[in-house]
Amino acid sequence: MVILMLGAQGTGKGTVAGLLSESLGWPQISTGDIFRKNIKEETPLGIEANQYISKGQLVPDEITVPMVVDRLNEPDAQAGAILDGFPRNIAQAEKLDEILAEKGKKVDLVINLTSPKDEIIERILNRRVCSNQACKTTYNLTMHPPVKEGICDKCGAELVQRQDDSDEQAIKNRLDIYDEKTLPLVEFYDKKGVLCTEEISEKTGRLGKDVADDILKKINQ
Ligand code: ADP
Ligand code: ZN
Repeated sequence: MVILMLGAQGTGKGTVAGLLSESLGWPQISTGDIFRKNIKEETPLGIEANQYISKGQLVPDEITVPMVVDRLNEPDAQAGAILDGFPRNIAQAEKLDEILAEKGKKVDLVINLTSPKDEIIERILNRRVCSNQACKTTYNLTMHPPVKEGICDKCGAELVQRQDDSDEQAIKNRLDIYDEKTLPLVEFYDKKGVLCTEEISEKTGRLGKDVADDILKKINQ
């Protein structure tokens, strides 16, 4: 089964994808995480991708698509996968359909997360991630802070802020690009009848965990 996460930055995509991945035993394939790992290791892919990421721009499809194809071909992604951060535009979505069709698969479920805009910026600025590549748990300094400041509850590694999360201009660029390039995917998948939209908000008290629980119930029905 192929599940796809849609939703602007800071809506909780990574959190929900992580919870689903844990429960279902399928990998969470986050293009942003794969890029960041390559940047840290200074691979040719990472050096190239960082030219775009540091400015809050999308990495070109010529780099992104083959990277996702490789990841989807790995053995652990055969039973199911949760794509987080891909596709980000119509061209990538069409490409994904082609790739999956070749394997006799399709996108089965698209989870579209929304959040009030004022909460989104606040959440991105307050986001901290575990620096341990094998853990990568996300925290929020106001919503769900770690027990011990600056330290991951799960593995004890140091928490860090992503470079593109500390720069307000880069955040605004990413949100604009989301509206322009990624939002059309909501209609694209709605037409296919696989879209499920969920709002996450502190105001209503419906958080990532609630959404993940409901989706799991639906899948296991
Ligand atoms: P966010 O959703 O907060 O922007 P991600 O971790 O999903 O963070 O992505 C970080 C950056 O990696 C993006 O700003 C973009 O530059 C790049 N990126 C991630 N996924 C894609 C993609 N599918 N296509 C192009 N660029 C991508
Ligand atoms: Zn950790």
